[in-house]
Amino acid sequence: MKTIQVPFFRPALQKEEVNEVIATLHSGWLTSGPKVKRFETEFAAAVEANGNSQSAKGRGKQVHAVALNSGTAALHLAVEALGLKPGEGVLVPTMTFAATAEVVRYQGAIPILVDCDPVTLNMDMDDAERRAQSLKGKGKGPEATKIVGIMPVHVGGKLLDLELLERFATAHKLWVVEDSAHAFPAGLKRSDGSWAQRCNGSKSVTCYSFYANKTITTGEGGMAVTSNARLAERMRLMSLHGLSADAWGRFSTNGNWDYKIVAPGYKYNLTDIAAAIGIHQLGRAESMRRERESIALRYSEALASVAEIELPPPAASKNNRIDSWHLFAIKLRLKRLKINRDAFMNELKRAGVGCSVHWRPLHLHPYYQKTFGWRAQDFPIATAQWKRLISLPIFPGMLEGEIEHVINTVKRICKSHAR
Ligand SMILES: *Cc1c(COP(=O)(O)O)cnc(C)c1O
Repeated sequence: MKTIQVPFFRPALQKEEVNEVIATLHSGWLTSGPKVKRFETEFAAAVEANGNSQSAKGRGKQVHAVALNSGTAALHLAVEALGLKPGEGVLVPTMTFAATAEVVRYQGAIPILVDCDPVTLNMDMDDAERRAQSLKGKGKGPEATKIVGIMPVHVGGKLLDLELLERFATAHKLWVVEDSAHAFPAGLKRSDGSWAQRCNGSKSVTCYSFYANKTITTGEGGMAVTSNARLAERMRLMSLHGLSADAWGRFSTNGNWDYKIVAPGYKYNLTDIAAAIGIHQLGRAESMRRERESIALRYSEALASVAEIELPPPAASKNNRIDSWHLFAIKLRLKRLKINRDAFMNELKRAGVGCSVHWRPLHLHPYYQKTFGWRAQDFPIATAQWKRLISLPIFPGMLEGEIEHVINTVKRICKSHAR
């Protein structure tokens, strides 16, 4: 019998993407041009679609979307535009990918790690409060760390309570940079009945990633979204060497040859080739999300009775939240199993099921341990949870046989190694 191989992820690219890329190659304009501009406009509209533009607060506010060559670039330009300086502190979840904290280090600033919620794995806002409090009153000497911002991650595409986040940021006078690399499209109903996909404060930037395995892709790419025109302008400037606005005629051939360097910027602009893919991925974003949601539902139903694992929180009631379902992470009940997580993953791989872990928390990485002396016991929830985590394959276009193979394999491994 030939065993089925189920990859952890397979990008869902179609003819429209292929044709748009070919047309772009023929157009003579490969770098940032008309396709990038269109992608920015359409993405801004999509992020606001069931969200802030309808809320009393956000009505009339223009949304700015800046396309970049990675989600990491978006995070970096966001903290740069917000003025993050060396020695300042930023609340960052320990349960995240490298990028969230490294951009804080780019600025010479200090990530103040926060533990996670054991169920959602999102930042634990009570722990954030404790860590903010414990640094208060120590803001005098040169060594003191002043917290200036917070960078929550919507893990797997399950939005953190945005209103709680906004209250927290206001109370502590912090800016907000959302790492929404997993969270497009997603939504949360506000208490006034409107829908939101992101924070809408005047000092907030939401950052998306279009890396190959994200919910929509451009191969590599990212987007920074904000309602603050000044922040958007700064990010645009810094994304292209810090050249004055009329520099290269970003979207046309009539750029000024006599450009002025006004800041030492970066080279973070997205290409039209990448945007050509993004435009069509964006058009199918909601239908791809629905496909992932239905796979999540299948897994949840089929694995509900398996005592050796804990499932992610259910596909919540659609009346108040929409999850992007970028990840489907199961948690092993290690006491009920004779094998650990790594052995469980080896068994999955041997059966042809691709899997991954999101993530080894930041405080358990050598660089951060060496630099800041963080210990496992400083973040007990993340330390305990990460040893149980396995992300299963979930992507649009997954075949019926592939879904079944994942379910059957998880069940079989649990059964043969149950304690
Ligand atoms: C993928 C990812 C990023 C980085 O995005 P890139 O586009 O790869 O730079 C940042 N944060 C999280 C949580 C991610 O998953």
